[in-house]
Amino acid sequence: MRQLRQRLVSVGQEFYRRGWVMGTSGNFSVVVASRPLKLLMTPSGAHKGQLNASDLLLVDAQGRARAGVRKPSAETLLHLEIIRACGAGAVLHTHSVWSTILSERHAQGGGLAIEGYEMLKGLEGVKTHEHQEWIPVLENDQDMPRLASRLRDVLSRNPTCHAFLLRRHGMYTWGDSLAQAVRHVEIVEFLLEAVARADQLASWDAREQTRPGHQ
Ligand SMILES: [Zn+2]
Repeated sequence: MRQLRQRLVSVGQEFYRRGWVMGTSGNFSVVVASRPLKLLMTPSGAHKGQLNASDLLLVDAQGRARAGVRKPSAETLLHLEIIRACGAGAVLHTHSVWSTILSERHAQGGGLAIEGYEMLKGLEGVKTHEHQEWIPVLENDQDMPRLASRLRDVLSRNPTCHAFLLRRHGMYTWGDSLAQAVRHVEIVEFLLEAVARADQLASWDAREQTRPGHQ
């Protein structure tokens, strides 16, 4: 458990350094017992770049703190939903710039499809760049029980997805283990940035071609 706490602290420092969890945004959890379910989790309002191992909480299946001095995050209910629906062993939530921008851009369509990128093979079970990954986008909500129930519905309709976005908010991904969930954050953040930058270049090219005097 001490090692796992240290590992979560270093994930916080790394993600902060990458700009994925600025301020006190984001939250992380790891399943440490399944019967009854117990999670080791970052608390509400904690700066992820400055976490101490003693800040981390043990949380039960109802999202109540079982050990630790700080308060559980309101988003604990979403972690629990993902663990139940996907059998995840770890859940990681970031507030990156690219996930925030793309969640707005693709909110109307309910999500975005990513295909053709070699990096897709970093997602568990994906064997080819020809895979099409659907990343659902959910409307943001401060009412967590209501958002958790919408998430249950989205995950049941998309049982093979590896991540989802909350509109103008951020990204959630998960894995069987903390290491796999960390890999998924790296892969999904890479893919979102690649897609957003490619869209941006394409729109610049289109504008350039319609400019008066363009040959
Ligand atoms: Zn959040």
